[in-house]
Amino acid sequence: MKNSRLQIYQPLLGKFVSQLCYGTLTIGPLQRDFEVSFGALLMERAYREGVNFFDTAELYDNYHFFKALLERVPRDEIVIATKSYAYDETTARTSLDKALHEMGTDYVDFFLLHEQESIHTLRGHSGAVDYFKKAKERGLIRGFGISTHHIAALEGALKTPGIDVVMAITNEKGLGIADGTMAQSLPLLRALKARGALVYGMKPLGGGHFIKDYEAAMAYVRGLDCLDAVAVGMQSVDEILANTLLFKGEEIPEEVKRGIAGTRRRLLIHDWCTGCGACVKKCHQQALRIEKGQAVVDPGKCLMCGYCAGACPQMCIKVI
Ligand code: SF4
Ligand code: SF4
Repeated sequence: MKNSRLQIYQPLLGKFVSQLCYGTLTIGPLQRDFEVSFGALLMERAYREGVNFFDTAELYDNYHFFKALLERVPRDEIVIATKSYAYDETTARTSLDKALHEMGTDYVDFFLLHEQESIHTLRGHSGAVDYFKKAKERGLIRGFGISTHHIAALEGALKTPGIDVVMAITNEKGLGIADGTMAQSLPLLRALKARGALVYGMKPLGGGHFIKDYEAAMAYVRGLDCLDAVAVGMQSVDEILANTLLFKGEEIPEEVKRGIAGTRRRLLIHDWCTGCGACVKKCHQQALRIEKGQAVVDPGKCLMCGYCAGACPQMCIKVI
C-alpha cells in the first residue's frame, strides 16, 4: 500500500480512493457522540485534506452525519462503505433502504455483511448476499462484501463468488483476530486482492493499544501489499492531520504528535448498569465480565469497538 500519495486509482470504482479511510464509529453515539454539525465538520476537514473514503455501519447509528457531509461535498467525490447484520432479502432491503434514506443518497459504494465468521455464516446469509448482488445490478450499490474479525471468514470469502470488498483486522500483533494470527490472515488477504477484491484493514492501532507506537503501527499497515486502504477512527483535527500527513509521506509536526498522544480512549460503564450481561455476550474479545452485579471491562483485552454499547438496554456503556 505504501506510497507517498494519499489516493490511488481503484478499478472497481473507476476512481481515485484514499488509502486512509475515515472510520466514523468514533464520532457517533457509540463513541464520542458528537453534535452532527461538529462530526460532519471533522469529516469535511478530512475530505479537504484528501480523504474521500468513509466507513460506517448501521450499528454505528451515524448516517445523519453522512447526510450533513453530503450537503457540503459532492456525492460522487466520496466513497461510502456501510455494513449491516442483514441475513435475508427482507432485512437486506430494509438495511439498504435505511442507509439510502438516512444518508440522503441514491447509492452507497460498498455494502458489507457485518462481522462474518466463516463460510457457514456466509451461507446462512445467502438471502442477503443474493439481494445485494441484485442491488449492485440496479446501481444501488457499487460493490458487495464482508467485514470480519475471523480468518475462517476470509477463507469463506475466497470460496464465495461475487465478493468485491473485504474489511479485516490488520495490525502487527493481530490484536482482535478471533481465530488466528496475521501470518494466517495475510496470504488470504493477498489472494482476495489478487482475485480483484478491494481489501481494507481496520484496527491498525488495536483499538488504541498501540497509540504509544503510533508511527510504527501505521508503518506496518502501510507496508502491507495486500491492503488498498485502512480504516482509522478519528475524532479530532489533530488525528486527521497526523494521519493524512503520514499517508502523504510528510513529516508530522511535534504539536500534532502531542495532540494525538493524549487521545487514548477508554470504556466507560455507568453505575446504573443492572448487570444483565447483554454486553458480555456481544463482546467477541471476552473483555467484559459481570462482577458484583455490574459489568467490568478488562482494558488489556478491549478493542474500543463500542459494539457492547449498542447492546446495552440501559445505554450505560460508551467509549470516550
Ligand atoms: S468491551 Fe465493548 S468496546 Fe471493548 S472489545 Fe468488547 S465489545 Fe468492543
Ligand atoms: S448490557 Fe448494560 S446494563 Fe447490561 S450488564 Fe452490560 S453495561 Fe450493564
